[in-house]
Amino acid sequence: MTPALIAYWVITILLFGVLFALARNFKMRLWARVLIGLGLGGAMGFAFGGGAAGCADGVACVPASSKFIGDAFVRLIRMLIVPLIFTTLTAGVIAMGDPKRLGSLGGRAIGLYVGTTIIAVSLGLVFGLIFRPGIGIDLSAVGPDAVASVQGKLALAEASGGVVDRLLAIIPQNPVAALASTDVLAIIFWAILFGVGILMAGERGKPVASVIESAAEAVLKVTEIVMEVAPYGVYALMAWVISTQGLDIIVNLGKLAMALYLACFVHAIVTYGSIIRFVVNLPVRRFFGGIVDALAVAYSTASSNATLPVTIANVSENLGVDKSVAGSVLPLGATINMDGTSIYLGLIALFASQALGIPLDAGDYLMIALTATLASIGAAGIPSAGLLLAATVLSVFGVTAEQSVLIIALIFPFDRLLDMMRTATNVTGDAAVAVTVAKWEGALDEEVFKAKSVA
Ligand code: ASP
Repeated sequence: MTPALIAYWVITILLFGVLFALARNFKMRLWARVLIGLGLGGAMGFAFGGGAAGCADGVACVPASSKFIGDAFVRLIRMLIVPLIFTTLTAGVIAMGDPKRLGSLGGRAIGLYVGTTIIAVSLGLVFGLIFRPGIGIDLSAVGPDAVASVQGKLALAEASGGVVDRLLAIIPQNPVAALASTDVLAIIFWAILFGVGILMAGERGKPVASVIESAAEAVLKVTEIVMEVAPYGVYALMAWVISTQGLDIIVNLGKLAMALYLACFVHAIVTYGSIIRFVVNLPVRRFFGGIVDALAVAYSTASSNATLPVTIANVSENLGVDKSVAGSVLPLGATINMDGTSIYLGLIALFASQALGIPLDAGDYLMIALTATLASIGAAGIPSAGLLLAATVLSVFGVTAEQSVLIIALIFPFDRLLDMMRTATNVTGDAAVAVTVAKWEGALDEEVFKAKSVA
């Protein structure tokens, strides 16, 4: 027990007490407590990271000692993914009443997902041209251990099969196994068909319909319970991330980080903001205010899959999106819609071309945009998935396999802070599309959107 460790824990316990009192005695809203947890965790990570607190030279940073609280929170929300997708999506299909509505809903959602992704990749390329993050990068500094570890991760990612296999895997051979392995797309497939089956069964389907509907309500209540842990979990995750990589990234990949953060902000505010303001005619601040919890959880966990239960709860409860839309559009979005990841892939392509001195022509840009779009659709909503997919994008303009391993290994140790931002952007995109589709489908309660959301 070092003095720094004792000090860290004393302060942490005090701060947790304050967070608890804010909830209990001052009835402070959850989103505000989550934001406070995020800020305090970041500040503590900064204060206790490196230097006197001793996380240099391979010694674990002091704040890493509370990471288990963050891990427990992540486990708690991951626990909700399967029951929540299955019940809300099946209940959603039942609530639609007519299976034909699924076609227009799905078509509109996918159209918006692809459209915003194309804008995102273009933004990534533009910011890469403006910031030139790869100029002056020294690739010879990457050590053999880092290269070997990335090679292993890439081999694992490739072993997951080609495009056709992955498409086939959407059809679960055993729905129970799909549920057991949190196979989101396969669960979506089964839940939709099951909902349609219940509708087709008419009167005789009613008993199971009401069981599923009440189960969906109950699981959303469990989400509320779990979210009470969010301020503490987010604190612990932030303290850990900032203490382990806060300053390093600024020193090593400052321009890349700046370009990504700015591009993501611009995409969130200009692209999604315009959609909310001009396409669905709703106040933008309330949109962002309503999804603060989801944004904080996405930012601290770097996983849009893990955030999914919070996104569903926020979008349906704060933004008035009907559960039939939230339950179907959001799980699909968490799996295929990743605009932050697309921005990142565009940026990394330019980073690599600049670091390696490979000139790009118009055809290369087009190929980068195309592969980055497809790669982001294929990316899983888990930490670092986007970076591992960069190899596919780099290969289209003549980067060799060895060179892309070098580029990825250079970024990998600092990826988490970048991942956090792109995940928050991914989740914002899912929510914006859910609101838009709900409005178009007549499934948006504007009273709730305007009244209940925060900010
Ligand atoms: N971590 C991101 C997500 O879960 C994916 C990525 O690595 O870009 O949304």
